[in-house]
Amino acid sequence: MRIVLLGAPGSGKGTQAQRLIQAHGVPQVSTGDLLREAVAQGTELGKKAQSIMASGALVDDDTILGIIRERLARPDAAAGFILDGFPRTIGQADALNVLLAQLGQPLDAVVLMEVDSKALFDRLTGRRTCRTCGLVFNVHTAPPPSPPPCDGRCESPDLFQRPDDSEATIGRRLEVYEASTRPLVEYYRREGLLRSVDAEGDIDAVTARLNAAISAQ
Ligand code: AMP
Repeated sequence: MRIVLLGAPGSGKGTQAQRLIQAHGVPQVSTGDLLREAVAQGTELGKKAQSIMASGALVDDDTILGIIRERLARPDAAAGFILDGFPRTIGQADALNVLLAQLGQPLDAVVLMEVDSKALFDRLTGRRTCRTCGLVFNVHTAPPPSPPPCDGRCESPDLFQRPDDSEATIGRRLEVYEASTRPLVEYYRREGLLRSVDAEGDIDAVTARLNAAISAQ
């Protein structure tokens, strides 16, 4: 299975990708997660990306494509992958087509996760991540259990808010999505790959709709 999850920040791409990897046994490839790892490790890439990410802007296409080439070359991606947060520009989509043609691994589908903009804002301001196990919660819609541990996966949940989920940066990220990423909807529609999913409401219900969209011929 080779799919792209397309959607605005906060549309639930990461949450749903986590569920798909369990069900389909392919890795989630999130450029945002790969960049955050680089920032945490203090690599050259991380130093370069940190302030760009904090501002809500996009990291340049060449840098992102370097990360993707390296990630898709790893053995676990040979059986397929779920791309989350990539591509985000027409240039990235064009380069992905070239790369996947070289690998002989074309995309099966691009799924657009549709969420109303007010719901996006609430999801992003409420998002909290457990530093210990990486599980993502939402203080409005999916609060962490009290008392801990969270989901039994770690003993000492240590929740933090992503710096780019501050109210000041969220508006910028949503503008960047509209200007740079939204055009990919038409791009993939023209390629006959686009499927749309109502991504609002209950997480399990969204997963069911997503699975139906992926398996539809
Ligand atoms: P995300 O976790 O997908 O919301 O990404 C967090 C931030 O990382 C974005 O706001 C961008 O600054 C950067 N980023 C992640 N993926 C990409 C991408 N495909 N192209 C450019 N910048 C990206």
